[in-house]
Amino acid sequence: MQILTTAAGLQAYTEQARRAGKRVGLVPTMGALHAGHLQLVQAARADCDEVIASLFVNPTQFNNAEDFRLYPRLPEADAALLAPAGCTALFVPSVPEMYPQPTVLRFDFGALEQVMEGAHRPGHFNGVATVVSKLFHLARPHRAYFGQKDWQQVAVIRQLVADLSFDLEIVACPTIREADGLAMSSRNLRLGADARAAAPLLHQVLEAAAEHVRQGVLPAQVRADAERTLAHEPLVTPEYFEVADAQTLQPLEKYVTGRAVVLCLAAHLGGVRLIDNVMVGAGA
Ligand code: AMP
Repeated sequence: MQILTTAAGLQAYTEQARRAGKRVGLVPTMGALHAGHLQLVQAARADCDEVIASLFVNPTQFNNAEDFRLYPRLPEADAALLAPAGCTALFVPSVPEMYPQPTVLRFDFGALEQVMEGAHRPGHFNGVATVVSKLFHLARPHRAYFGQKDWQQVAVIRQLVADLSFDLEIVACPTIREADGLAMSSRNLRLGADARAAAPLLHQVLEAAAEHVRQGVLPAQVRADAERTLAHEPLVTPEYFEVADAQTLQPLEKYVTGRAVVLCLAAHLGGVRLIDNVMVGAGA
């Protein structure tokens, strides 16, 4: 596995791969890798000749300086996991390498980012779109792999690709969970024992709500029930729970036949902010 630390090095590497007729897969991550990330690498390995993973804790997508400071950074352990998973090149740039000058361009994804993560983390998707655009330009992948765990992010990136005509395909992979249902996340490393014990409630609430959606319980009632259950657990501080259209991410008042629904939540547990979602209907 090649280790690349410069933008020019990554460009040269993928230019050579493309000239050799190889298919290039890209897996952008912020590191502290777990099975959810490794699944993306394995999916890329199955489709592509070159699998480039990036490890970069992107400052521009954090709206909370403390969250950025405390984000787990384990580059050596990550590198040891990536090679056996099929990664052929690891891109680990410094902040000045990715941002030699402050960015001026600002993205506006309209209604897509006026809800949930976009509404609760001002500037978050601008930072995501900035860094993902940079990675797409530098790596020029044929395919880029993302997790359904960050479903709104997938929607924003699909919009980015469509609006800017990036010549690549986005592949979304399912959410990988711990045995007790907790969605794997790098931030889980920061959970204390009590918060970790309470954390499976998030997925339980989502699954119960999904069952209610299948039964046709109206969105307002599903939201109210979920919020009540979350409020009962003293270790959990819910930030939002939403019943939304899976494509537009807009909150629903009623269901539309043939359109998938996504249930999304964000909550704080012992100072750590977690998100999760489940999909219902239309093939989910
Ligand atoms: P992150 O390092 O958290 O920015 O995540 C990098 C990529 O891995 C994103 O596309 C995430 O959606 C994806 N990812 C993170 N956690 C999971 C998970 N539990 N299951 C599937 N994909 C995940």
